[in-house]
Amino acid sequence: MLWPGLKKLGKELNLTLTSSEVVGVIKNCFIKMYDGNSIKVLEIYPPQIDEDDKNFIADTLVKNKVKNYTYHFNSLIINFNEVLKPYSITKIKNLLLTFTDYFAAKHGGEVLCQECKESKEPALYIVNKVAVYWCQNCLNKEKHNYEIAQREQAEIPNNYLAGFGGALLFALPGILISVIFFVFLNSIVALAAVVYTFLATKGYKQFKGKKTLLGEAIIIGVSLVMIGVGTLVAYSVFILRIIETFDITLLLSVLALAEVQQELLSNLAMTYLVSSFFIILQIIFMLKDYRVKFKIEKL
Ligand SMILES: [Zn+2]
Repeated sequence: MLWPGLKKLGKELNLTLTSSEVVGVIKNCFIKMYDGNSIKVLEIYPPQIDEDDKNFIADTLVKNKVKNYTYHFNSLIINFNEVLKPYSITKIKNLLLTFTDYFAAKHGGEVLCQECKESKEPALYIVNKVAVYWCQNCLNKEKHNYEIAQREQAEIPNNYLAGFGGALLFALPGILISVIFFVFLNSIVALAAVVYTFLATKGYKQFKGKKTLLGEAIIIGVSLVMIGVGTLVAYSVFILRIIETFDITLLLSVLALAEVQQELLSNLAMTYLVSSFFIILQIIFMLKDYRVKFKIEKL
């Protein structure tokens, strides 16, 4: 994600703006910046980081009251926490330039591939929506690994039935939430779709259901059925509380009454209507996820 502050800084520093990140090279470092949830992130990939460099980084960050940073494969990732207001772009810029000046003076002028730290011929690419500064060799390796992972995934047994059972089993406790909301809080179960989808996904995974489009469809199908079952059970509990006796025959005869059925149907319709927003969103995400093939774009 990218907010106007980092976009402006990116333009000022002549970096490239992708849909979600500011990326590019300053001196001998590959740079990446983006906005997160109440946070701005700055990633710096110098040719190398030794113990001396780590001391310098720690000192500089302490002086600037920045506590949240990590090292990841010889790169520095700094998180600027934002409480109520955006973090100062000028402070980020000053820190960034301090570090790029330091690394240029310390490790020479060459920019190395972000991945292998060896090749001197990296270029900016977008690999599966993420900007990278890689050499051709590293790109090929990534593509090869992806193909192996795809092949392994294809060899996993289908397990759809087990996944379906797991989804159903895990979604059952969701009925309790339907009942609590409907009977005790007198409210339509707006949360139902979220709860059932969450539980069904857990169950499907637990029973090793295969991760495919059909698998996702099974999860959504189970959630849809359980939303209905939950509402039906919740409504029955509601009636049982009114007739004040646990008499299933009486309950069934009440449920058979035309006006009760009418009310039940309108409750069901309402629950599905409220849930549909989330379910549709879920389907859009699911289709989007599966449409992504391995994709390399040159920037
Ligand atoms: Zn490389």
